[in-house]
Amino acid sequence: MGCKMLTNPYFMLFELILLLYFFTPETASAQQNFPRFLSSPYYGSKPITSWFDHEFPNYTTNDHLLKFTGEERDDPHDDGPGNPPGDIPREKDPIYDNCYDGHSGIDFSTGYSQILAAAGGIVINANWNSPNCHNCSLGLYIRIRHLVEGVTYHTYYGHLSTIAVQPGDIVKAGQVIGSSGSTGNSSGSHLHFEIRAYLNGSYRRLDPFGWQPTEDADPWSEHDDGAQSWCMWGDGQWVNYCDANQTSRPVPPLTIAMT
Ligand SMILES: [Zn+2]
Repeated sequence: MGCKMLTNPYFMLFELILLLYFFTPETASAQQNFPRFLSSPYYGSKPITSWFDHEFPNYTTNDHLLKFTGEERDDPHDDGPGNPPGDIPREKDPIYDNCYDGHSGIDFSTGYSQILAAAGGIVINANWNSPNCHNCSLGLYIRIRHLVEGVTYHTYYGHLSTIAVQPGDIVKAGQVIGSSGSTGNSSGSHLHFEIRAYLNGSYRRLDPFGWQPTEDADPWSEHDDGAQSWCMWGDGQWVNYCDANQTSRPVPPLTIAMT
């Protein structure tokens, strides 16, 4: 009797609807906590010259950068005390040859080109990062606030040569907001792109490429000022660099507040 019921096509349809009902909300909830809302902040294809440092993306130095793939790269620029110039073995990579120890964002080799909002939002800053020092920090920069699924994010665009927006402007994803350059603390024209999220009571730096190694925890996620990163690219060339499985990871416990 029971067997007959299970093979009944109408009952099987009923089971399928039940399955969809129970599994759909769970999937939606996981996506909600790992939204892939960023698009490329420039036109065309540009190489990356420095990645986010998963050990200390706050400019604390330890002579190397820990990339989102889990590989370490020696910082050729980090020739501080105890490190005479040239003593750090440097594996020249035709694309990824520069890694700044402690780097808090992603450097795109954009030269002088148009820069685009990576997501829709409201412009918070569009001026000098340090008004009295144009060779300091991010130089001419833009900061945009985004509200995505109840979480506030800020994207930063540093070292710009021109700015085409002002604070209070509402921008769409892909809208031209300025041009890249080499203002601030920069040795050549490029875009410094950075993203922070308001999590657990403060703005925390995230790697938009996430963290790929499944066997090791992301060191930055265990830091007091840190957070768990995930692949944030929704489209464009960089989504292919991210691990598709990152969205299926357990949701980190967060207390979220909007500012
Ligand atoms: Zn940078």
